Amino acid sequence: MVATDVLVGFGSNLGDRCGLINQALKRLADLPETSLLKISSLYESAPVGCLAQGAFLNGVVMLRTFLEPRPLLERLLEIENLLGRVRKQRWGPRTIDLDLLFYGHAEIVEASLTVPHPEINQRLFVLEPLCEVAPEWTGPIGKVADQLRIYRELNPEASACWVVAAPAVPDVRKVTDGIFYRYSQS
Ligand code: AMP
Repeated sequence: MVATDVLVGFGSNLGDRCGLINQALKRLADLPETSLLKISSLYESAPVGCLAQGAFLNGVVMLRTFLEPRPLLERLLEIENLLGRVRKQRWGPRTIDLDLLFYGHAEIVEASLTVPHPEINQRLFVLEPLCEVAPEWTGPIGKVADQLRIYRELNPEASACWVVAAPAVPDVRKVTDGIFYRYSQS
């Protein structure tokens, strides 16, 4: 069996966002037959659409795994559920959101799983960290770095997202506790 490199997007806009992201990353590192390879900086962006929410923290992590796509998605949803229990309102903002962006170069279209994730090229807060981790990664609609450039050209007015923290550990493969230093919102 061959391991596959996959890219997972993560985000949080509720509660101790950085703490929740650290916990999610630790749980990803602890998945069976899986290791962390690379991680982006932590990006912050203002909420789009429903403005009654807090700002988001987002990033992207590259994993190497022997898990197949569907079992991997199930693990991601398990982690979301485990860390989502502090939700204050039923349909409120997310404590943690994990998206399977790319699974190798597989293309999957099923009722509960679409890979590559269909909204990659519509979200600056995904494209920016994705481009930091894997600029040369090529999906069905082209190279990640080109998608970011095209997004910026097509959306000159789009609200920015900015780096708020670099990974605290120099080698993401040796993660123990928090990958990111506590980032406290001013
Ligand atoms: P959301 O919380 O809005 O990200 O949506 C989660 C749901 O989207 C899950 O129930 C998944 O079954 C479905 N889904 C489909 N494709 C993906 C993907 N590539 N990554 C994460 N969730 C996905």
